[in-house]
Order: sequence, then C-alpha cells, then structure tokens
Amino acid sequence: MVKKLSEHFTLEELLFSQTATRKKIDNTPTPEILANLARLAGVLEVVRAELGNVAIHVSSGYRSPALNKAIGGAKHSRHMRGLAVDFTAPAFGTVLQTARKIASLDLGYDQIIHEFGRWVHLGLAEPGAKPQGELLSYFGGDYLKGLISKPA
Ligand SMILES: [Zn+2]
Repeated sequence: MVKKLSEHFTLEELLFSQTATRKKIDNTPTPEILANLARLAGVLEVVRAELGNVAIHVSSGYRSPALNKAIGGAKHSRHMRGLAVDFTAPAFGTVLQTARKIASLDLGYDQIIHEFGRWVHLGLAEPGAKPQGELLSYFGGDYLKGLISKPA
C-alpha cells in the first residue's frame, strides 16, 4: 500500500534506494524518523509549489545507518535522521538554478548543497534546533561555500 506523507510525496519514494534493494539492506524508519520524514514531505510541498508545481524527482531520502555506509554517505548525514532529501526538478531548471531558487525561499533550511551539478541536497535542522541556513557546493574533495558552478 502506498502511504502518502503529503499530497505529492509518498513514504515509498523517501525510503527507496536501489542500493538497499540490491544489497537487501533494511531501510525501515523508526517512528521518530517517520515523523521527521513527514515534516520533510511538508517542506517538499512548499518547494514544489514555489518551483511552479513541477515534478520533484527524489533520488535519496531516508538512509538507515547501514545503507548510508553502503553508499559512502557522510558520517553524520542528515539522511540517517530522515531530515534530508536529494532531488532534481528538471522542469524548473538546472540543478544550480533550482538550488538558488530554494535558497531564496523562507524554508528554514539547515543546509542546501549543490552536489556535482547533478542534484540538490536539502537538509533540515533537528526538531527544535535552529536552522543554520548554510549554502554549499560539492564536486568531490572539499565542500565549497555558496551555491556555485564547478570551478574550472
Ligand atoms: Zn543528500
């Protein structure tokens, strides 16, 4: 059964991982993480609406610690808390345009990362914590400040 977290986002798409499927890694969230995912879906609804009601393609949402390790995710990744999502919105524009648009919204995001020019990482703060509003770009190596194109 498809469980909707919000009007346009299902639990399935925020749990789905090809790696988890292939390697038979359990990616079941705890009730606490489910609540975080519901909050994340609510923020994604705002993003979707602000981008002009375009489709949001989620490539990674929740990652259990085992899954995060298997894909080489950051050690303290917010994905493991159900508080981060990687996505694209090609009908809106490039990944960089999408990231910049989202950064201009009053979402209370903790972190937006332009990753490899291929997807936007949107991270929320822990419940009750103050969002940092950090903007970064990542092309491998060090994280770069701001939402920028890959340096030549
Ligand atoms: Zn991410």
